Amino acid sequence: MAFIKINKENFFHNLSQFTKKIGSKNSIAIVLKDNAYGHGLNLMAKLSAEFGLTKAVVRTTKEAEQIKPYFKYILVLGDKAIAQEPYTFALNSLEDIYKAEKNACVELKVDTGMHRNGIAMHEIEKALKLIEKKELLLVGVMSHNRSADELSSELFWQHKNFLEVKKRIEELVDTQLITYHNFNSATALRLACYNEKFIRLGIGAYGYSELPAIYDTLNLKPVLSLWAKRISTRQLKKGQRVGYGGQFVAPKEMTVSTYDLGYGDGWMRSNSFESFVTAEGLPLLGRVSMDYVILESTKDEVCIFNDALAAGKQLGTISYELMTQLHSDVKRVVT
Ligand SMILES: *Cc1c(COP(=O)(O)O)cnc(C)c1O
Repeated sequence: MAFIKINKENFFHNLSQFTKKIGSKNSIAIVLKDNAYGHGLNLMAKLSAEFGLTKAVVRTTKEAEQIKPYFKYILVLGDKAIAQEPYTFALNSLEDIYKAEKNACVELKVDTGMHRNGIAMHEIEKALKLIEKKELLLVGVMSHNRSADELSSELFWQHKNFLEVKKRIEELVDTQLITYHNFNSATALRLACYNEKFIRLGIGAYGYSELPAIYDTLNLKPVLSLWAKRISTRQLKKGQRVGYGGQFVAPKEMTVSTYDLGYGDGWMRSNSFESFVTAEGLPLLGRVSMDYVILESTKDEVCIFNDALAAGKQLGTISYELMTQLHSDVKRVVT
């Protein structure tokens, strides 16, 4: 089966870059949702703890349970709030507050302009009263920026809205216990971080910035690479066709091999007639099968991609999607 290499040195390098910018390892909450962006949840939790991180962000309570031994603080973004240490739960709506279990540690998400999740800014007072009535422990207030990775001033008005949220909440409740956070990777790359208690660091830790090049202030290195193993090799005569639909026609006599990666492993089949070119410069010949691709190579192992940003561009998507869809049962090895 195809396999994934995780470059520990590059992961630590990226974490060091952000640690330097923000000042402390305690000011980074590593985002491990969706199988740690395809890198492997347990593995990346373990490496994060080894580096010295103490905070993590996941999507579900199930993910939180798997990484519990590694962190002091785990924020669950999208599950019912239950009273269970050391988890805290994002409240994405007033309904979430109604559903939350008594004594749960919660973080109120406020919609500052993305209009995806969070209560509206005019609902703050209502939400705070409800949190008190339901006997929840409010430990955080958060928001998410919609355009941090685009070249525009959008981030600035949204950040200003968040400061306004902070001011309003400080007027309404005793806020000693509350931590405010609204920085993702792109925001942390663009703005100064010294006022932040912590940032929620996702894609940057894995080595990517989808920002225009002028924002490349940190030197980030890809952590994940995807590899496939050779299954069989054959000679093609000029004019012979390869794979489903015989889409590829050999322009000359050539030696090709079948490798054990397909869309069943989470690799994209893509309807494009432009073939994907691997990290080693080999085009995938013909259509991608469920479990196989064909390359003009006889090597036992080939690297399909080691830069998800560049690979994603070839396939018309972003690094996030390419990596998160890699199946969790594809083996991950640390190098
Ligand atoms: C996924 C996510 C992040 C991390 O975003 P990156 O762009 O990968 O750094 C931060 N906050 C929230 C709420 C998220 O859902």
